Amino acid sequence: MRLSRYFLPVLKENPAEAQIVSHRLMLRAGMIKQASAGIYSWLPLGYKVLRNIERIVHEEQIRAGHVPMLMPTVQSAELWRESGRYDAYGPEMLRIRDRHDRDMLFGPTNEELITDIFRAHVSSYKDLPLTLYHIQWKFRDEIRPRFGVMRGREFFMKDGYNFDLTKEDALHAYNRHLVSYIRTYERMGLQAIPMRADSGPIGGDDTHEFLVLADTGESEVFYDSAVTDIRLGNREINYDDVGQCRAVMEEFTALYARTDETHDEARFVEQVPAERQRRARGIEVGQIFYFGTKYSEPMGATVQGPDGKSVPVHMGSHGIGVSRLVGAIIEASHDDNGIIWPEGVTPFHCGIVNLKQGDEAADAACDGIYAALTALGLDPLYDDRKERAGGKFATMDLIGLPWRITVGPRGLKNGVVELTSRRSGESEELPPEAAVQKIA
Ligand code: ATP
Ligand code: MG
Ligand code: MG
Ligand code: MG
Repeated sequence: MRLSRYFLPVLKENPAEAQIVSHRLMLRAGMIKQASAGIYSWLPLGYKVLRNIERIVHEEQIRAGHVPMLMPTVQSAELWRESGRYDAYGPEMLRIRDRHDRDMLFGPTNEELITDIFRAHVSSYKDLPLTLYHIQWKFRDEIRPRFGVMRGREFFMKDGYNFDLTKEDALHAYNRHLVSYIRTYERMGLQAIPMRADSGPIGGDDTHEFLVLADTGESEVFYDSAVTDIRLGNREINYDDVGQCRAVMEEFTALYARTDETHDEARFVEQVPAERQRRARGIEVGQIFYFGTKYSEPMGATVQGPDGKSVPVHMGSHGIGVSRLVGAIIEASHDDNGIIWPEGVTPFHCGIVNLKQGDEAADAACDGIYAALTALGLDPLYDDRKERAGGKFATMDLIGLPWRITVGPRGLKNGVVELTSRRSGESEELPPEAAVQKIA
Protein backbone atom coordinates (compact mmCIF):
# COMPACT_ATOMS: atom_id res chain seq x y z
CA MET A 1 0.00 0.00 0.00
CA ARG A 2 1.18 3.49 -0.86
CA LEU A 3 0.47 5.94 1.91
CA SER A 4 -0.50 8.63 -0.63
CA ARG A 5 -3.45 6.43 -1.65
CA TYR A 6 -4.32 5.13 1.81
CA PHE A 7 -6.59 6.54 4.49
CA LEU A 8 -4.56 7.08 7.64
CA PRO A 9 -5.97 10.06 9.52
CA VAL A 10 -3.32 10.41 12.25
CA LEU A 11 -3.84 13.00 14.98
CA LYS A 12 -1.03 15.31 16.07
CA GLU A 13 -2.61 16.22 19.39
CA ASN A 14 -3.45 13.88 22.22
CA PRO A 15 -7.21 13.40 22.26
CA ALA A 16 -8.56 14.69 25.56
CA GLU A 17 -11.20 11.97 25.97
CA ALA A 18 -8.70 9.10 26.08
CA GLN A 19 -7.70 8.07 29.59
CA ILE A 20 -5.47 5.13 28.80
CA VAL A 21 -2.58 4.70 26.42
CA SER A 22 -4.16 2.16 24.06
CA HIS A 23 -7.22 4.34 23.51
CA ARG A 24 -5.02 7.37 22.97
CA LEU A 25 -2.76 5.57 20.49
CA MET A 26 -5.65 4.00 18.58
CA LEU A 27 -7.17 7.44 18.06
CA ARG A 28 -3.85 9.08 17.23
CA ALA A 29 -2.88 6.33 14.78
CA GLY A 30 -6.17 6.71 12.95
CA MET A 31 -7.37 3.20 13.80
CA ILE A 32 -10.84 3.98 15.12
CA LYS A 33 -13.36 6.76 15.32
CA GLN A 34 -16.10 6.88 17.89
CA ALA A 35 -19.57 6.75 16.33
CA SER A 36 -21.42 7.08 19.63
CA ALA A 37 -20.72 6.08 23.23
CA GLY A 38 -18.99 2.68 23.19
CA ILE A 39 -19.55 2.23 19.45
CA TYR A 40 -16.69 2.63 16.98
CA SER A 41 -15.95 2.71 13.29
CA TRP A 42 -12.85 0.72 12.46
CA LEU A 43 -10.77 2.82 10.10
CA PRO A 44 -8.52 0.98 7.62
CA LEU A 45 -5.49 0.53 9.89
CA GLY A 46 -7.54 -0.63 12.88
CA TYR A 47 -9.63 -2.86 10.67
CA LYS A 48 -6.50 -4.64 9.42
CA VAL A 49 -5.38 -5.43 12.96
CA LEU A 50 -8.86 -6.58 13.92
CA ARG A 51 -8.90 -8.93 10.91
CA ASN A 52 -5.45 -10.29 11.76
CA ILE A 53 -6.58 -11.11 15.28
CA GLU A 54 -9.75 -12.67 13.95
CA ARG A 55 -7.71 -14.81 11.52
CA ILE A 56 -5.45 -16.13 14.29
CA VAL A 57 -8.50 -16.97 16.41
CA HIS A 58 -10.05 -18.87 13.48
CA GLU A 59 -6.86 -20.76 12.71
CA GLU A 60 -6.39 -21.91 16.29
CA GLN A 61 -10.04 -22.87 16.76
CA ILE A 62 -10.04 -24.90 13.57
CA ARG A 63 -6.77 -26.53 14.65
CA ALA A 64 -8.47 -27.56 17.90
CA GLY A 65 -11.23 -29.26 15.89
CA HIS A 66 -13.92 -26.63 16.45
CA VAL A 67 -16.33 -25.83 13.64
CA PRO A 68 -16.86 -22.23 12.41
CA MET A 69 -20.30 -20.87 11.54
CA LEU A 70 -22.14 -17.56 11.78
CA MET A 71 -25.21 -16.66 13.81
CA PRO A 72 -27.12 -13.37 13.50
CA THR A 73 -26.66 -10.33 15.71
CA VAL A 74 -30.39 -9.74 16.23
CA GLN A 75 -32.24 -12.46 18.10
CA SER A 76 -35.81 -13.18 19.07
CA ALA A 77 -36.74 -12.82 22.75
CA GLU A 78 -38.62 -16.15 22.60
CA LEU A 79 -35.56 -18.30 23.11
CA TRP A 80 -34.37 -16.16 26.00
CA ARG A 81 -37.73 -16.57 27.69
CA GLU A 82 -37.30 -20.33 27.40
CA SER A 83 -33.98 -20.29 29.20
CA GLY A 84 -35.26 -17.77 31.74
CA ARG A 85 -32.58 -15.24 30.89
CA TYR A 86 -34.75 -12.64 29.14
CA ASP A 87 -35.67 -11.04 32.44
CA ALA A 88 -32.58 -12.12 34.33
CA TYR A 89 -30.11 -10.43 31.98
CA GLY A 90 -31.11 -6.93 33.04
CA PRO A 91 -30.39 -3.53 31.45
CA GLU A 92 -27.17 -4.68 29.75
CA MET A 93 -29.36 -6.28 27.09
CA LEU A 94 -30.39 -3.99 24.24
CA ARG A 95 -34.05 -4.76 23.67
CA ILE A 96 -35.67 -3.94 20.34
CA ARG A 97 -39.24 -4.17 19.09
CA ASP A 98 -39.93 -4.90 15.45
CA ARG A 99 -42.84 -3.52 13.36
CA HIS A 100 -45.04 -6.46 14.35
CA ASP A 101 -44.50 -5.64 18.00
CA ARG A 102 -42.32 -8.69 18.53
CA ASP A 103 -39.65 -8.49 21.20
CA MET A 104 -36.18 -8.78 19.73
CA LEU A 105 -32.74 -8.14 21.13
CA PHE A 106 -29.21 -7.47 19.95
CA GLY A 107 -27.33 -10.56 21.14
CA PRO A 108 -24.97 -10.09 24.09
CA THR A 109 -24.02 -13.80 23.78
CA ASN A 110 -25.42 -16.87 22.03
CA GLU A 111 -26.09 -19.81 24.36
CA GLU A 112 -29.82 -19.86 23.58
CA LEU A 113 -29.46 -19.53 19.82
CA ILE A 114 -26.85 -22.26 19.54
CA THR A 115 -28.81 -24.61 21.81
CA ASP A 116 -31.82 -24.10 19.55
CA ILE A 117 -29.76 -24.99 16.48
CA PHE A 118 -28.37 -28.03 18.23
CA ARG A 119 -31.73 -29.41 19.37
CA ALA A 120 -33.20 -28.98 15.89
CA HIS A 121 -30.53 -31.08 14.20
CA VAL A 122 -28.78 -33.39 16.62
CA SER A 123 -30.49 -36.28 18.34
CA SER A 124 -27.93 -39.04 18.76
CA TYR A 125 -24.81 -39.38 20.86
CA LYS A 126 -23.13 -40.58 17.68
CA ASP A 127 -22.98 -36.97 16.45
CA LEU A 128 -20.99 -35.93 19.53
CA PRO A 129 -18.60 -34.49 20.50
CA LEU A 130 -19.40 -31.23 18.70
CA THR A 131 -18.03 -27.74 19.20
CA LEU A 132 -19.45 -24.89 17.13
CA TYR A 133 -18.23 -21.33 17.23
CA HIS A 134 -18.59 -18.00 15.51
CA ILE A 135 -16.96 -14.59 15.55
CA GLN A 136 -19.65 -11.97 15.53
CA TRP A 137 -20.55 -8.52 16.86
CA LYS A 138 -22.16 -8.41 20.26
CA PHE A 139 -23.96 -5.62 22.03
CA ARG A 140 -24.02 -5.04 25.77
CA ASP A 141 -25.39 -1.77 27.02
CA GLU A 142 -22.49 -1.31 29.45
CA ILE A 143 -23.25 1.18 32.18
CA ARG A 144 -19.84 2.79 31.72
CA PRO A 145 -18.39 2.22 28.25
CA ARG A 146 -14.82 3.47 28.37
CA PHE A 147 -11.22 2.99 27.37
CA GLY A 148 -12.14 2.87 23.69
CA VAL A 149 -12.61 -0.64 22.31
CA MET A 150 -11.65 -2.19 25.66
CA ARG A 151 -15.12 -1.68 27.07
CA GLY A 152 -17.32 -0.93 24.14
CA ARG A 153 -21.05 -1.42 23.93
CA GLU A 154 -20.72 -2.98 20.49
CA PHE A 155 -17.77 -5.36 20.39
CA PHE A 156 -16.42 -8.26 18.35
CA MET A 157 -16.28 -11.58 20.13
CA LYS A 158 -15.48 -15.16 19.37
CA ASP A 159 -17.89 -17.42 21.20
CA GLY A 160 -17.83 -21.19 21.00
CA TYR A 161 -20.09 -23.86 22.45
CA ASN A 162 -19.32 -27.49 23.11
CA PHE A 163 -21.91 -30.28 23.22
CA ASP A 164 -20.92 -33.54 24.85
CA LEU A 165 -22.55 -36.71 26.09
CA THR A 166 -20.83 -36.79 29.47
CA LYS A 167 -19.31 -34.42 31.95
CA GLU A 168 -15.96 -36.06 31.32
CA ASP A 169 -16.13 -35.31 27.59
CA ALA A 170 -17.23 -31.73 28.31
CA LEU A 171 -14.24 -31.26 30.59
CA HIS A 172 -11.99 -32.39 27.77
CA ALA A 173 -13.63 -29.70 25.62
CA TYR A 174 -12.91 -27.23 28.43
CA ASN A 175 -9.25 -28.22 28.51
CA ARG A 176 -9.01 -28.12 24.72
CA HIS A 177 -10.29 -24.56 24.79
CA LEU A 178 -7.87 -23.58 27.52
CA VAL A 179 -4.91 -24.88 25.53
CA SER A 180 -6.08 -23.40 22.22
CA TYR A 181 -6.64 -20.02 23.88
CA ILE A 182 -3.13 -19.92 25.29
CA ARG A 183 -1.75 -20.73 21.85
CA THR A 184 -3.95 -18.00 20.34
CA TYR A 185 -2.71 -15.32 22.73
CA GLU A 186 0.92 -16.40 22.40
CA ARG A 187 0.69 -16.03 18.62
CA MET A 188 -0.37 -12.43 19.21
CA GLY A 189 2.72 -11.84 21.32
CA LEU A 190 0.65 -11.79 24.50
CA GLN A 191 0.82 -13.55 27.79
CA ALA A 192 -2.72 -14.12 29.08
CA ILE A 193 -2.79 -16.00 32.38
CA PRO A 194 -5.71 -18.35 33.07
CA MET A 195 -7.17 -17.42 36.45
CA ARG A 196 -9.92 -19.05 38.43
CA ALA A 197 -12.95 -16.80 38.20
CA ASP A 198 -16.61 -16.42 39.03
CA SER A 199 -19.20 -17.54 36.52
CA GLY A 200 -21.49 -14.45 36.54
CA PRO A 201 -24.67 -14.45 34.42
CA ILE A 202 -23.55 -17.38 32.22
CA GLY A 203 -23.72 -19.64 35.30
CA GLY A 204 -21.83 -22.86 35.95
CA ASP A 205 -19.20 -24.60 38.01
CA ASP A 206 -15.89 -24.41 36.23
CA THR A 207 -14.54 -21.24 34.76
CA HIS A 208 -11.26 -19.54 34.03
CA GLU A 209 -10.64 -16.04 32.78
CA PHE A 210 -7.56 -15.14 30.75
CA LEU A 211 -5.85 -12.01 31.95
CA VAL A 212 -3.21 -9.82 30.41
CA LEU A 213 -1.32 -8.06 33.18
CA ALA A 214 -1.58 -4.27 32.82
CA ASP A 215 -1.92 -1.40 35.29
CA THR A 216 -4.87 -0.08 33.32
CA GLY A 217 -6.77 -3.39 33.59
CA GLU A 218 -10.18 -3.31 35.24
CA SER A 219 -9.76 -6.59 37.13
CA GLU A 220 -7.88 -6.99 40.37
CA VAL A 221 -5.72 -10.11 40.29
CA PHE A 222 -3.70 -12.14 42.77
CA TYR A 223 -1.10 -14.62 41.59
CA ASP A 224 2.07 -16.54 42.18
CA SER A 225 4.73 -14.79 40.07
CA ALA A 226 5.98 -18.21 38.92
CA VAL A 227 2.93 -18.53 36.61
CA THR A 228 4.42 -15.86 34.37
CA ASP A 229 7.30 -18.22 33.52
CA ILE A 230 5.04 -20.83 31.89
CA ARG A 231 4.79 -20.83 28.09
CA LEU A 232 3.25 -23.17 25.58
CA GLY A 233 5.84 -22.19 22.96
CA ASN A 234 5.78 -24.42 19.89
CA ARG A 235 4.97 -27.61 21.70
CA GLU A 236 3.17 -30.17 19.56
CA ILE A 237 -0.41 -30.44 20.80
CA ASN A 238 -2.79 -33.25 19.85
CA TYR A 239 -6.21 -31.87 20.68
CA ASP A 240 -7.73 -35.36 20.62
CA ASP A 241 -5.34 -36.47 23.33
CA VAL A 242 -7.39 -36.19 26.53
CA GLY A 243 -4.42 -36.81 28.79
CA GLN A 244 -2.18 -34.26 27.11
CA CYS A 245 -4.83 -31.52 27.16
CA ARG A 246 -5.51 -32.21 30.83
CA ALA A 247 -1.80 -32.15 31.64
CA VAL A 248 -1.32 -28.78 29.93
CA MET A 249 -4.40 -27.38 31.67
CA GLU A 250 -3.03 -28.56 35.02
CA GLU A 251 0.38 -27.11 34.31
CA PHE A 252 -1.12 -23.68 33.57
CA THR A 253 -3.60 -23.67 36.44
CA ALA A 254 -1.75 -25.39 39.30
CA LEU A 255 -0.24 -22.24 40.76
CA TYR A 256 -2.34 -19.65 42.57
CA ALA A 257 -3.89 -17.17 40.12
CA ARG A 258 -7.30 -15.67 40.82
CA THR A 259 -9.37 -12.60 40.16
CA ASP A 260 -10.84 -10.66 43.10
CA GLU A 261 -14.16 -12.51 42.75
CA THR A 262 -12.67 -15.81 43.89
CA HIS A 263 -9.58 -14.56 45.71
CA ASP A 264 -9.01 -16.24 49.06
CA GLU A 265 -6.49 -14.21 51.06
CA ALA A 266 -5.77 -16.88 53.67
CA ARG A 267 -5.08 -19.47 51.03
CA PHE A 268 -2.99 -17.04 48.96
CA VAL A 269 -0.71 -16.23 51.88
CA GLU A 270 -0.41 -19.85 52.92
CA GLN A 271 0.13 -21.30 49.44
CA VAL A 272 2.40 -18.72 47.81
CA PRO A 273 5.87 -17.88 49.15
CA ALA A 274 5.92 -14.23 50.25
CA GLU A 275 8.43 -13.12 47.63
CA ARG A 276 6.25 -14.54 44.84
CA GLN A 277 2.94 -13.00 45.95
CA ARG A 278 1.70 -10.51 43.38
CA ARG A 279 -1.30 -8.21 43.66
CA ALA A 280 -1.85 -6.48 40.36
CA ARG A 281 -4.33 -5.55 37.68
CA GLY A 282 -5.29 -7.30 34.48
CA ILE A 283 -7.38 -7.09 31.31
CA GLU A 284 -9.83 -9.94 30.74
CA VAL A 285 -9.31 -11.09 27.15
CA GLY A 286 -11.22 -14.36 27.33
CA GLN A 287 -13.16 -16.76 29.49
CA ILE A 288 -14.10 -20.43 29.37
CA PHE A 289 -17.02 -22.11 31.16
CA TYR A 290 -18.28 -25.57 31.81
CA PHE A 291 -21.93 -25.33 32.85
CA GLY A 292 -23.25 -28.88 32.36
CA THR A 293 -26.95 -29.04 31.56
CA LYS A 294 -27.89 -25.48 32.57
CA TYR A 295 -29.27 -24.67 29.09
CA SER A 296 -29.78 -28.12 27.61
CA GLU A 297 -32.20 -29.15 30.34
CA PRO A 298 -34.68 -26.23 30.21
CA MET A 299 -34.40 -26.00 26.42
CA GLY A 300 -34.68 -29.73 25.78
CA ALA A 301 -31.34 -30.22 24.03
CA THR A 302 -31.11 -33.98 24.45
CA VAL A 303 -29.54 -36.88 22.64
CA GLN A 304 -30.21 -40.56 22.68
CA GLY A 305 -27.37 -42.25 24.55
CA PRO A 306 -25.86 -45.67 23.71
CA ASP A 307 -28.50 -47.32 25.92
CA GLY A 308 -31.33 -45.68 23.96
CA LYS A 309 -32.22 -43.32 26.81
CA SER A 310 -32.62 -39.61 26.16
CA VAL A 311 -30.24 -37.36 28.14
CA PRO A 312 -29.53 -33.62 28.17
CA VAL A 313 -26.12 -32.78 26.72
CA HIS A 314 -23.25 -31.34 28.73
CA MET A 315 -22.24 -27.93 27.50
CA GLY A 316 -19.71 -25.18 27.93
CA SER A 317 -19.20 -21.80 26.36
CA HIS A 318 -15.94 -20.08 25.59
CA GLY A 319 -15.28 -16.50 24.58
CA ILE A 320 -12.42 -14.37 23.29
CA GLY A 321 -12.69 -10.58 23.20
CA VAL A 322 -11.42 -10.03 19.66
CA SER A 323 -11.89 -6.25 19.56
CA ARG A 324 -10.73 -5.82 23.17
CA LEU A 325 -7.53 -7.64 22.23
CA VAL A 326 -6.53 -4.79 19.91
CA GLY A 327 -6.40 -2.48 22.93
CA ALA A 328 -4.86 -5.10 25.21
CA ILE A 329 -2.00 -5.76 22.79
CA ILE A 330 -1.24 -2.03 22.65
CA GLU A 331 -1.36 -1.75 26.45
CA ALA A 332 1.24 -4.52 26.57
CA SER A 333 3.39 -3.28 23.70
CA HIS A 334 4.12 0.42 23.17
CA ASP A 335 6.61 3.15 24.05
CA ASP A 336 6.57 6.94 24.23
CA ASN A 337 6.56 7.24 20.44
CA GLY A 338 3.68 4.90 19.73
CA ILE A 339 2.56 1.34 19.20
CA ILE A 340 4.95 -1.61 18.77
CA TRP A 341 3.03 -4.34 16.94
CA PRO A 342 3.95 -7.96 17.52
CA GLU A 343 4.72 -9.62 14.16
CA GLY A 344 1.61 -11.82 14.33
CA VAL A 345 -0.92 -9.00 14.26
CA THR A 346 0.87 -6.05 12.65
CA PRO A 347 -1.22 -4.22 10.02
CA PHE A 348 1.77 -4.02 7.65
CA HIS A 349 5.01 -5.98 7.92
CA CYS A 350 7.30 -3.12 7.05
CA GLY A 351 7.28 0.60 6.39
CA ILE A 352 9.29 2.08 3.55
CA VAL A 353 10.32 5.70 4.04
CA ASN A 354 11.48 7.61 1.00
CA LEU A 355 13.63 10.50 2.27
CA LYS A 356 13.51 12.34 -1.04
CA GLN A 357 10.34 11.73 -2.96
CA GLY A 358 10.87 12.73 -6.58
CA ASP A 359 14.56 11.79 -6.61
CA GLU A 360 14.87 9.29 -9.43
CA ALA A 361 17.23 6.87 -7.68
CA ALA A 362 15.31 6.98 -4.38
CA ASP A 363 11.94 6.47 -6.06
CA ALA A 364 13.26 3.54 -8.10
CA ALA A 365 14.87 1.89 -5.07
CA CYS A 366 11.64 2.21 -3.06
CA ASP A 367 9.61 0.73 -5.89
CA GLY A 368 12.08 -2.16 -6.12
CA ILE A 369 11.94 -2.87 -2.37
CA TYR A 370 8.16 -2.64 -2.45
CA ALA A 371 7.95 -5.14 -5.30
CA ALA A 372 10.43 -7.52 -3.66
CA LEU A 373 8.57 -7.53 -0.33
CA THR A 374 5.24 -8.00 -2.07
CA ALA A 375 6.63 -10.89 -4.13
CA LEU A 376 7.55 -12.59 -0.84
CA GLY A 377 3.92 -12.37 0.27
CA LEU A 378 4.61 -9.51 2.68
CA ASP A 379 2.50 -6.40 2.99
CA PRO A 380 4.57 -3.17 3.07
CA LEU A 381 3.39 0.39 3.64
CA TYR A 382 5.32 2.82 1.46
CA ASP A 383 5.36 6.43 2.62
CA ASP A 384 5.60 8.07 -0.80
CA ARG A 385 4.27 11.45 0.30
CA LYS A 386 6.19 14.68 -0.28
CA GLU A 387 6.73 15.27 3.43
CA ARG A 388 9.63 16.04 5.70
CA ALA A 389 11.61 13.03 6.90
CA GLY A 390 10.89 13.86 10.54
CA GLY A 391 7.15 13.70 9.98
CA LYS A 392 7.45 10.40 8.13
CA PHE A 393 9.49 8.87 10.94
CA ALA A 394 7.02 10.06 13.56
CA THR A 395 4.12 8.49 11.67
CA MET A 396 5.96 5.18 11.28
CA ASP A 397 6.84 5.13 14.98
CA LEU A 398 3.26 5.95 15.93
CA ILE A 399 1.69 3.18 13.86
CA GLY A 400 4.32 0.75 15.12
CA LEU A 401 5.28 -1.48 12.17
CA PRO A 402 7.98 -3.97 13.23
CA TRP A 403 10.45 -2.83 10.48
CA ARG A 404 11.27 0.38 8.70
CA ILE A 405 13.43 0.63 5.59
CA THR A 406 14.70 4.16 5.03
CA VAL A 407 15.81 5.03 1.51
CA GLY A 408 17.68 8.21 0.54
CA PRO A 409 19.94 9.44 -2.26
CA ARG A 410 22.99 9.63 0.01
CA GLY A 411 22.82 6.00 1.15
CA LEU A 412 22.02 4.80 -2.34
CA LYS A 413 25.30 6.33 -3.59
CA ASN A 414 27.00 3.75 -1.35
CA GLY A 415 24.51 1.07 -2.36
CA VAL A 416 22.77 0.90 1.03
CA VAL A 417 19.49 1.59 2.75
CA GLU A 418 18.79 1.67 6.48
CA LEU A 419 16.85 -1.09 8.24
CA THR A 420 15.41 -0.21 11.66
CA SER A 421 13.69 -2.45 14.18
CA ARG A 422 10.77 -0.67 15.85
CA ARG A 423 11.12 -2.75 19.02
CA SER A 424 14.86 -2.42 19.67
CA GLY A 425 15.34 0.88 17.85
CA GLU A 426 18.53 -0.55 16.32
CA SER A 427 19.47 0.37 12.76
CA GLU A 428 21.88 -1.10 10.26
CA GLU A 429 22.94 -0.11 6.77
CA LEU A 430 22.80 -2.78 4.11
CA PRO A 431 22.03 -3.29 0.42
CA PRO A 432 18.30 -3.19 -0.42
CA GLU A 433 18.14 -6.93 -1.26
CA ALA A 434 19.74 -7.81 2.08
CA ALA A 435 17.23 -5.62 3.95
CA VAL A 436 14.37 -7.40 2.22
CA GLN A 437 15.88 -10.80 3.06
CA LYS A 438 16.21 -9.86 6.71
CA ILE A 439 12.49 -9.04 7.00
CA ALA A 440 11.41 -12.20 5.18
P1 ATP B 1 -16.10 -7.95 31.61
O1 ATP B 1 -15.85 -8.63 32.94
O2 ATP B 1 -14.91 -7.21 31.12
O3 ATP B 1 -17.36 -7.16 31.61
P2 ATP B 1 -17.41 -10.29 30.74
O4 ATP B 1 -16.90 -11.25 31.77
O5 ATP B 1 -18.72 -9.68 30.95
O6 ATP B 1 -16.31 -9.13 30.53
P3 ATP B 1 -17.66 -12.48 28.85
O7 ATP B 1 -19.11 -12.71 28.89
O8 ATP B 1 -16.77 -13.41 29.58
O9 ATP B 1 -17.34 -10.96 29.28
O10 ATP B 1 -17.25 -12.35 27.29
C1 ATP B 1 -16.07 -12.91 26.70
C2 ATP B 1 -15.04 -11.85 26.38
O11 ATP B 1 -15.57 -10.77 25.63
C3 ATP B 1 -14.44 -11.19 27.61
O12 ATP B 1 -13.45 -11.99 28.19
C4 ATP B 1 -13.90 -9.89 27.04
O13 ATP B 1 -12.60 -10.11 26.51
C5 ATP B 1 -14.85 -9.57 25.92
N1 ATP B 1 -15.77 -8.50 26.33
C6 ATP B 1 -16.77 -8.57 27.23
N2 ATP B 1 -17.42 -7.40 27.36
C7 ATP B 1 -16.79 -6.55 26.51
C8 ATP B 1 -16.99 -5.19 26.19
N3 ATP B 1 -17.96 -4.47 26.76
N4 ATP B 1 -16.16 -4.61 25.27
C9 ATP B 1 -15.18 -5.33 24.68
N5 ATP B 1 -14.96 -6.63 24.95
C10 ATP B 1 -15.75 -7.24 25.85
MG1 MG C 1 -19.30 -7.77 31.47
MG1 MG D 1 -15.70 -10.60 33.49
MG1 MG E 1 -16.01 -12.98 31.42
